[in-house]
Amino acid sequence: MTTQRRLPSIERLVAALPTHHTVPHAVCVAQARTLVAQWRHDPALMPASFAEMVAQLNHVLIQFTQPNLRRVINATGVLLQTNLGRAPLSQAAQRAITAVAGATNIEYDLMAGQRSDRQLHIQTLVRQLTAAEASLVVNNNAAAILLTLMTVAAGREVIVSRGQAVEIGGGFRIPDILRQSGATLVEVGTTNRTYVHDYAEAITPQTALILRVHHSNFRIQGFTHEPTLRELATLAHQHHILLIDNVGSGSLIDVTPFGLAYEPRIQDSIAAGADVVCFSGDKLIGGPQAGLIVGRQVVVRQIARHPLMRALRPDKLTIAALDATLRSYVNETACHDIPIWQMISTPLSQLADRATALSDAFPAGWQLRSTHSTIGGGALPGETLPSWAVVCTHPPPDQLATALRQYDIPVIGRIHDGAFWLDVRTIAPTDDQIVVAAVHACTP
Ligand SMILES: *Cc1c(COP(=O)(O)O)cnc(C)c1O
Repeated sequence: MTTQRRLPSIERLVAALPTHHTVPHAVCVAQARTLVAQWRHDPALMPASFAEMVAQLNHVLIQFTQPNLRRVINATGVLLQTNLGRAPLSQAAQRAITAVAGATNIEYDLMAGQRSDRQLHIQTLVRQLTAAEASLVVNNNAAAILLTLMTVAAGREVIVSRGQAVEIGGGFRIPDILRQSGATLVEVGTTNRTYVHDYAEAITPQTALILRVHHSNFRIQGFTHEPTLRELATLAHQHHILLIDNVGSGSLIDVTPFGLAYEPRIQDSIAAGADVVCFSGDKLIGGPQAGLIVGRQVVVRQIARHPLMRALRPDKLTIAALDATLRSYVNETACHDIPIWQMISTPLSQLADRATALSDAFPAGWQLRSTHSTIGGGALPGETLPSWAVVCTHPPPDQLATALRQYDIPVIGRIHDGAFWLDVRTIAPTDDQIVVAAVHACTP
């Protein structure tokens, strides 16, 4: 019999579905068509019996009724896992999103009873935290940089150190963004060494600004030099041009007490004299996806008036979550409230206790191993934090990884050194029992 003749009719397949499911008829027909088309295209995929074909369609329909975007447990040991949504939100930020999901005073002044500006909700918090005169929130840091450059550098020159003309990831390249903004890139220095005089010699009447870019996802080591931000600020202001600092992940907290390499904070960039500082909301800030533009009022106001601002403005949910996140810093409770800082600040001994409890509760065959977590998300490149993992070599790691990915609440680990690893530093302590249940369900 040829494949063509064995393909069932759409009507027959749909009619044979269990009667209890609630998927509309039109969806059943559309999904059945897609499935039959796949079998026609690749007969090897076609089940042997009609009953199995119906079962497969039924499975597809059950999947179709589930939301695609689901909660997962990050056990990868990468704190800011881009594929898993970067920074997890604090409880307060999650509550804030729910609270304003209906009607809210996003652009309404409740005192005056008149129209207001959505950016005002964040301004006082940012000023308190960074001492910046003004702030602006857009959809992400890529948008923040683009909008800033379009406003203050279009048709003019922007000076960037050769070592900082980098690609951040996802195809976001500083030279491309500069071109898109209508500015001309003037590269100075060499990949490893750039001095203040390199910048000074490149300044012309056409220069709009000096752009400093955080290396983000790589490190230059060895025979290197870069001027300090303060030196660049002095130079820029002597020549009446701007200094823009793209700090990337942008921390509000000093990371050195946690054993990480020194990373300037946003308030340090402002204090050093940067006119505008751009950073992400969902890296080391630990909030929602957002880009923050903070700095001198005259410049930030000008950026806010750019026609594209309307296309890049954040929604009420973002502003609510960012507001709640920034309040944790104002209240000095960030290490307690914000998941990324909980992960960074948890002492190794606590992780050892949790990993031991997990391996005790797991089926036989899982072992404790010390490991290193990474920050990820282009933040603190090369920096690691010591951690503990629970590790399994049998069943084979890829089999275990697949099973745990398909658990009700998917658990995402990492395969390394022929074993499957669950790093406790990135698992929220409140999720430990879910991980235990998942591992039992997925170990034969
Ligand atoms: C992450 C990063 C960006 C992009 O920020 P998004 O919020 O992802 O758009 C830009 N520049 C640097 C240096 C970064 O680290």
